[in-house]
Amino acid sequence: MSATLGTLINQLEPTWSIGLFENLDKAGLESSSPWNNAGTGHSALCELNYTAAKADGSVDPAKAIGINEQFQISRQFYSWAVENKRVADNSFINALPHMSFVIGDDHSKYLKTRYEALKPNALFDELEITNDLDTINEWTPLVAKGRKDSQKVAASRVVSGTDVDFGRLTADLTDSLGASGASINFGHKVKNIKRDGAGWELTVKDKASGAVKTVKAKFVFVGAGGGALPLLQKSGIDEIKGFGGFPVSGQFLRCTDETIINQHHAKVYGQASVGAPPMSVPHLDTRFVDGKRSLMFGPYAGFSMNFLKSTGQMDLPLSLRPHNIIPMLAVAKDNMALTNYLIKEVLKSRAKKDLSLAEYFPEADGSKWELITAGQRVQVIKKDAKKGGVLQFGTEVITSSDGTISGLLGASPGASTATPIMIGLLSRCFPKQFAGWESKLKDIVPSYGQKLNENPALYAEVKAATDKALGLN
Ligand SMILES: Cc1cc2nc3c(=O)[nH]c(=O)nc-3n(C[C@H](O)[C@H](O)[C@H](O)COP(=O)(O)OP(=O)(O)OC[C@H]3O[C@@H](n4cnc5c(N)ncnc54)[C@H](O)[C@@H]3O)c2cc1C
Repeated sequence: MSATLGTLINQLEPTWSIGLFENLDKAGLESSSPWNNAGTGHSALCELNYTAAKADGSVDPAKAIGINEQFQISRQFYSWAVENKRVADNSFINALPHMSFVIGDDHSKYLKTRYEALKPNALFDELEITNDLDTINEWTPLVAKGRKDSQKVAASRVVSGTDVDFGRLTADLTDSLGASGASINFGHKVKNIKRDGAGWELTVKDKASGAVKTVKAKFVFVGAGGGALPLLQKSGIDEIKGFGGFPVSGQFLRCTDETIINQHHAKVYGQASVGAPPMSVPHLDTRFVDGKRSLMFGPYAGFSMNFLKSTGQMDLPLSLRPHNIIPMLAVAKDNMALTNYLIKEVLKSRAKKDLSLAEYFPEADGSKWELITAGQRVQVIKKDAKKGGVLQFGTEVITSSDGTISGLLGASPGASTATPIMIGLLSRCFPKQFAGWESKLKDIVPSYGQKLNENPALYAEVKAATDKALGLN
């Protein structure tokens, strides 16, 4: 998020001075690391949580269209970054079919309804569907082989989905930002943020030397992932009051056998279990990490009280404030299904984890899969007039009323939407300058201000151009 915002600001206002402080020794090692997230270029092509069935069984395509529109903005930003040497090359993104796979009559019926709701839309015109096991075998043999013919299954796919190594992208953008004059400070932890006249003063610790210094800024973006909530709380802005965070940790199974890894070429998403948060939808997915192919299954959710992989178990208790206790308690009371789901997941033995894998890959041999720890997600809890508090699964940008500080909470749909979220943030924090930036923004995102789903000709043009720049055809 910070690397994207920094790159945009540097392009829009090259004379502005930018300082980036990163606690770890490199960029992109926390949630944006390719082992900590699934690398799905979220476009709602295969993630069923964006098209949940309504009570009457119908499916509203609006949310899926919105998610896809957002990723089209990110794709254009990536293309611009490649063409303008803001990244080393286009190897951080790879074309990869996005597939949904479901088992049973009800889920198959739902998939068909979803297909019918999405297919007429320009952004989903490549969507295909099948109930035929032989076709699924052609699309994704690991999912089909060893499955009983009597089992009712259905799958849909879009061949032109993507896998994105967000860690690589983050590192490249940060390097380029440094080369463009920004001050990049790795191994520097931001300890405090406080008002300083019309701007802000940050207290920053250099972890290598132990030196503590202060840094002044007219504008601060708290792009600290799971570390954003505590820093925004320290800033004392009213807008953070009533917000809390609920950490959900994750694990993935990673395949260790090259012959199996090379038989799979897709991101295959299934249906979430009852009570599961949207990001826990199981998926069997190919990932390219530093150009090398891998195969993962998960995520398995867990509970741990740290907000970042690199921080400790006191994060959750230390985030409690008088203003967020009621929302936190209300969420605990109203989300029993989630609580039950998390308890079951935490208690899941390795053998049960292998059984979950076998639902998607019937012939899986557990000994060829290792368990790795994925990233932490801090789900947003916010005040709600009726319920006291609600759990929110999306992202939330918190901005002070004077627009001098902004931060991002939450994770989903995450890294894929960094570009549209950061453009939105710029319009909120820099209203005076924003109108003057629009023509430069159109150089970066040619479709800026237009909906591609409503303009199929423009979509075709943008898709062809981004596919070419990103090497996706
Ligand atoms: C299991 C899992 C699967 C996911 N799958 C996907 C997916 O398939 N597609 C997708 O688009 N998104 C996915 N996401 C979400 C995505 O990973 C995040 O939305 C995105 O990486 C967040 O980027 P960020 O810059 O906000 O945070 P991060 O990448 O976590 O970066 C924040 C940085 O701030 C630093 N920091 C924190 N506190 C301080 C401090 N006090 N001082 C200095 N530095 C600090 C951290 O070290 C870190 O490097 C997934 C997330 C998880 C956990």
